[in-house]
Amino acid sequence: MRIRVSGTVQGVGFRPFVYRHALELGLSGHVLNDERGVEIVAEGPADAIAELIRRLEEEPPSLARVESVLAANEAPTGESGFRIAHSVSGGEADTPVSADSATCDACLAELRDPLDRRYRYPFINCTDCGPRFTIVTGVPYDRPLTTMAGFQMCAECQAEYDDPLNRRFHAQPNACPVCGPHARLIGVGEGGFSESGESDAVALSAVALARGAILAIKGIGGYHLACIASDEDAVARLRARKRREEKPFALMAPDLESARALVEVTAEEEALLTGRERPIVIARRAEEAPVAASVAPGSRDLGVMLPYAPLHHVLLADFGATLVMTSANVSDEPISYTDDDARERLEAIADGFLVHDRPVHMRTDDSVVRAVTDGQPIMLRRSRGYVPQSVGLPIEAPPLLGCGAELKSTFCLAKGKRAWAGHHIGDLKNWETLESFREGIAHFERLFAVEPELIAHDLHPDYLSTRYAQERAEADPEIELVGVQHHHAHLAACLAEHGEQRRALGVIFDGTGFGPDASVWGGELLVGDLQGYERAGMLMPVRLPGGDRAVREPWRMAASWLSVAFDAELPAIPRTLRSQIEAADWRAVCGIVQTGAGSPVTTSAGRLFDAVSALLGVRAHVSYEGQAAAELEGLADPSERGAYEFSAEGGGGEAPLVLDPRSAIRAIVADLDRDELTRTIAARFHNGLAAATAAAAEQICRERRLDLVALSGGVFQNRLLVERTLEALDAVSLEALMPAALPPNDGGIAYGQVVVAAARSAKS
Ligand code: ZN
Ligand code: ZN
Ligand code: FE
Repeated sequence: MRIRVSGTVQGVGFRPFVYRHALELGLSGHVLNDERGVEIVAEGPADAIAELIRRLEEEPPSLARVESVLAANEAPTGESGFRIAHSVSGGEADTPVSADSATCDACLAELRDPLDRRYRYPFINCTDCGPRFTIVTGVPYDRPLTTMAGFQMCAECQAEYDDPLNRRFHAQPNACPVCGPHARLIGVGEGGFSESGESDAVALSAVALARGAILAIKGIGGYHLACIASDEDAVARLRARKRREEKPFALMAPDLESARALVEVTAEEEALLTGRERPIVIARRAEEAPVAASVAPGSRDLGVMLPYAPLHHVLLADFGATLVMTSANVSDEPISYTDDDARERLEAIADGFLVHDRPVHMRTDDSVVRAVTDGQPIMLRRSRGYVPQSVGLPIEAPPLLGCGAELKSTFCLAKGKRAWAGHHIGDLKNWETLESFREGIAHFERLFAVEPELIAHDLHPDYLSTRYAQERAEADPEIELVGVQHHHAHLAACLAEHGEQRRALGVIFDGTGFGPDASVWGGELLVGDLQGYERAGMLMPVRLPGGDRAVREPWRMAASWLSVAFDAELPAIPRTLRSQIEAADWRAVCGIVQTGAGSPVTTSAGRLFDAVSALLGVRAHVSYEGQAAAELEGLADPSERGAYEFSAEGGGGEAPLVLDPRSAIRAIVADLDRDELTRTIAARFHNGLAAATAAAAEQICRERRLDLVALSGGVFQNRLLVERTLEALDAVSLEALMPAALPPNDGGIAYGQVVVAAARSAKS
């Protein structure tokens, strides 16, 4: 029988698994990796072969994801014995490389065993765990095509590697202190860099951190900047040097018990924290959490992860407390991952460098998720641990690339019924991120052997991702461009990842997206499917005073909404903003709202949150996108069930429905005048918007005979809004979908573009 296994089956111990079971079942033949997956030729009694196939399907190795097992009869050859044959290269590669995986329990036990030869060895791994995607330079996945190629295994490691019954059989990154990578601590002093020499670099690092040092630490996908989390002085110094004013820092806790002291951990969150993907989990801050105030100013949540690389395990065990572990970059630049680059860019930030000599081939940031009560966790950033796992497509795609949008940029390749969403690149606004974007795309095109015939892009003409798509098309006239409206991409992404092809109502609430009418969309009720859409409703359009400036200065949106809510040319400056905004500036912006000079019209839901956040005095200015809304949510009292009224006009017939928040704005002002608590007002706003959204959805769905609603867009990173909206939709018996595998924010746009382009090409 010739058996073909496809899915994530390379670099996960699949061949030794087959070997062990074939021996046990008395089968002869061979197993090998090729570019399509794993091929097995098995000869022996029919029931033994059937049992092998059952085990392949039902009990594969822990890191494998078996998508299909196809078997065909062959003439027996009388071959005796079973062997693992060499990888075959050439032809087409569509086998996904597996994602990086946290250290497994067997390796952890060895790491902590003083008698083991890998005791405290920071690069211990086996076929069940270790780096994968970040060290792969090409396919098939074998040691010469990884960044371990330069390390020659010692006799003991080689014996493990060659022994099919060993846990390290063909574990490509296999290594030990004799033959593998080593860690070093490099200090940055007055006279430049100095080396730790032969001593235990990790132990020394723990001591330095305890004294308040800031260290750049090379991990799996790049560098982190670390410091003691409980020391205000150290954390404040890191903030100042990194030029990151307020965005929360992620934490790494030594173990689950310490994580529980930081955040409230539900069963779902525990599963996320301890899973092999090891994302940063955003959860509700515990009372008296032992962290410095500067870790996450103004946030009711904390982002926590557990150690995932053996180096982290040893370091955190030595250190014995929680560390700040933030991506090592300066402001919005991509994470540092090469040693030279890190030294150059981080010298002014770090007091020392804990480095090692295993190169990172693909820079990959930590992933970020957030659990939601009674719902799927929300993926906020899909990167290390998840990438490059494929995401299914409900329709066949020609070779295709989606270039994404601008913020939280990712790209996505597709072919057949699979899509490979790339790692998080960052905000595509400068040369460094654009380079990272180009390199990532080139690497993925080689890994998955996709030569795009179609390139899908956002409609925004100025996005660097759009320009990149145009450049590719200019360089190669065979390439066809497909422009995809931003919010349609959000809708299609949500439907497709759930395998849906039905027409649905997409409630897409986000910050900014280019509308075909050249206005700024962002509060959209779209009726559509994978191919097309129609704008069935929207948030009431208002001015975005000063364009992009309004994104950084939420108080401008407060001026805009107050002007329309009270139909006043010059609304009074709210008491909550008086200490923060000059009266002259307020008057000037209210004037701009009236004339519309340099101020496009927007339906953005994100900007409505900004306006309310500013009105309540929570945030008049922001230092990162989404900050005002995040802090407004953090403030809202979850036990408050009151809700502000929104009205809805139109819908039915020709005119789109307009969701009008003016009555809610007036009610907020009245509550402020009454000295109502801001946390109560914040909650009533969330509750009101959720209820109004569900009512609008019910009306549109009834008129158009739809029963499915997709919620997406960056505003739906808001846990309270998600929970309330799902409740309200459930109450009117509408089925609701939310992005789960991919983020609701613009990190999911590239996949959505791929879906739309595939659907249109399937139709034409
Ligand atoms: Zn392991
Ligand atoms: Zn060795
Ligand atoms: Fe968006």
